[in-house]
Amino acid sequence: MRLQQFCSRLKNCGGGACKSLPLPLFSTKNITMYYIQQNILTEIIQTIGDSPIESGGIIGWRNHTICTYYFDKTNIQFEAEYTPNVEKLNQIIKHWAKDGVTFIGIVHSHPNGYNRPSISDEIYVRTLMEDNKSLTKLIFPILTKVNGNIKIDFYEFVEKFSPIKVICVE
Ligand SMILES: [Zn+2]
Repeated sequence: MRLQQFCSRLKNCGGGACKSLPLPLFSTKNITMYYIQQNILTEIIQTIGDSPIESGGIIGWRNHTICTYYFDKTNIQFEAEYTPNVEKLNQIIKHWAKDGVTFIGIVHSHPNGYNRPSISDEIYVRTLMEDNKSLTKLIFPILTKVNGNIKIDFYEFVEKFSPIKVICVE
């Protein structure tokens, strides 16, 4: 993923809706668990999984369940790294906020089964969070395809990337 300024308007979209709700997330030792709706997971697989590598999109959540996804089909293929269409994504995030959905992360695909965030992913996420102080956490799924088999590994970034378990719900 390539670094590009991604929205001072994100500032308006963090927190809010989720903060007053009970937290259905829990931790077992070092692994945090979250939830994702089955239809969203399917949509991610059908869009990014069916596109050239380094495709991506954004995800939103409500009640700590990932419930919204936008496929960034207008992203710019540049130096073989996912480069978000910043202007369009900011519009989407603003629209989500009206429905009480908070932007929570970026999903993209990697080549060659490389299922961990890259150095440039880390630089990107650090910069994004420094620019948007209300973003205290980011969920960062990475999709890989090996021999036609699609796999998604979920990470969260708080001060660094950590693997997380995400449970699929109807
Ligand atoms: Zn990446």
